[in-house]
Amino acid sequence: MSKGKDIRIRIILECTSCVRNGVNKESPGISRYITQKNRNNTSSRLELRKFCHYCHRHTVHEEIKK
Ligand SMILES: [Zn+2]
Repeated sequence: MSKGKDIRIRIILECTSCVRNGVNKESPGISRYITQKNRNNTSSRLELRKFCHYCHRHTVHEEIKK
């Protein structure tokens, strides 16, 4: 197990359209992607366009805080 300084952190991207539709956060009805980002390059919130299986289209997925 390495305990070095890891500048890549794991983040969760969540479909913003699903959230706007008022789906409960515990519900499986929100599209989520797990990805990684470089803490040094991306200090702000990450936003990516990904396909949402619940909205059936590409939507903006935004980083959420755990
Ligand atoms: Zn969605």
